[in-house]
Amino acid sequence: MSNATVAVVGGGLVGTLNAIYFAQRGWNVNLYEARPDMRLPENKAKERGKSINLALSERGLSALRATKLGLDKLILEASVPMYARMVHVGDKQMSQAYSVHGEYINSVDRARLNDLLLNIAEKFENISIYFEHQLVMIDFDKNILSLKTGSTEHQSSIVKHYADLIVGADGAYSRTRGQMMRRMRMNYEQEYIDTGYCELSMLPKLNENGESEFALDPNHLHIWPRHTFMLIALPNPDKTFTCTLFMPFDMFNEITTKEKLLEFFSTHFPDAIPLIGQERLIDEYFKNPRGSLITIKSSPHHLNGQAVIIGDAAHAMVPFYGQGMNCGFQDIEVLHQVLDHHGITPVLTKKMKNQLEKALTDYSNTRVKDAHAICDLAMYNHYEMRSAVTSLRYLARKGIEGW
Ligand code: FAD
Repeated sequence: MSNATVAVVGGGLVGTLNAIYFAQRGWNVNLYEARPDMRLPENKAKERGKSINLALSERGLSALRATKLGLDKLILEASVPMYARMVHVGDKQMSQAYSVHGEYINSVDRARLNDLLLNIAEKFENISIYFEHQLVMIDFDKNILSLKTGSTEHQSSIVKHYADLIVGADGAYSRTRGQMMRRMRMNYEQEYIDTGYCELSMLPKLNENGESEFALDPNHLHIWPRHTFMLIALPNPDKTFTCTLFMPFDMFNEITTKEKLLEFFSTHFPDAIPLIGQERLIDEYFKNPRGSLITIKSSPHHLNGQAVIIGDAAHAMVPFYGQGMNCGFQDIEVLHQVLDHHGITPVLTKKMKNQLEKALTDYSNTRVKDAHAICDLAMYNHYEMRSAVTSLRYLARKGIEGW
């Protein structure tokens, strides 16, 4: 009997790491990604609207480390440690350490992390990566995926591929999840918040010797909390900061001219204007897209022994706990621990298929409640970051998790 095939839908952060885990288990892996290969320079410019950098915490690092490929070290070499929050209130800056033991979170470049995972994945002989393959349908009677190939309407065609197991890592608007829901009683809940976000950037400044340096302290996650809205800034290894303005959509809609934008920033974030620069602020505020923020809870995460969803496909969360990717990475570590526990091998005999179904049931039983809990914590941190971090009482209790 030949080794089993797993179809991983979505070559984002979670799907690609999961492909590596299955390859290490000896499965044949087909990784399907709807977009073209984002590592190619001609495609880089198309990557707009997604957060540029993310906070990587121990939850995610643990899953990278468990591959024993040194992924955690590779990623950390290209990241900036953030030991504390820096809260900007008025003309004061207050540093709030994440841990009394010196623990820290890491600012990582999303695209770089994805590229690195894809580079590692493509070194495995048992992983085939299919770019521009968008899942459109799954026939669960035969476990056959229909995928639309090609980038334009004229060139596209539908191909059909079989898989013993399908793993949906295709993000918050997951087609895999949608297809599963047609076949099973999956509970599903989604909630948009009225806050959206817009990314801005802060270039390095020149010091008196003419050398470039970070415009703000690089080992902090900077926050300008203003109750109903806030600005944050995370450092990048190239000495820039990526800033994100989180604000109700109504407020975004009211700021329609550059005069209104400058007045708004002068009132609420005056210290940020010279750091970002007026021209850049105006250009990026009006050019960059507004992102929306959604919480998604689903239960269970699997269908028989045939399919399972992980990452945002199973549990999208608002970003204020900085745990979406970390939690998705942890899904993979937990899933493979469960598969190990059930002795799942790549050779899927009838008995092993039954065992796989039990394993996926166990996975849903353990993971769903954790995923729901972290979605709720992320929502709570929305309030905490906008408001509570400014209170003195808050300073008495600090934690390493979250932004
Ligand atoms: P995605 O990143 O959405 O990837 C899904 C992939 O599937 C994509 O490549 C997509 O093209 C592909 N795809 C979609 N549909 C199909 C289809 N039909 N067929 C084939 N392929 C398909 N998380 C953190 O841990 N720390 C942070 O600090 C943090 N900050 C954030 C800040 C913001 C502003 C936002 C919005 C999110 C933040 N997150 C953070 C969350 C994090 O970005 C997500 O949790 C993470 O990207 C989820 O990864 P994923 O691989 O599950 O999904």
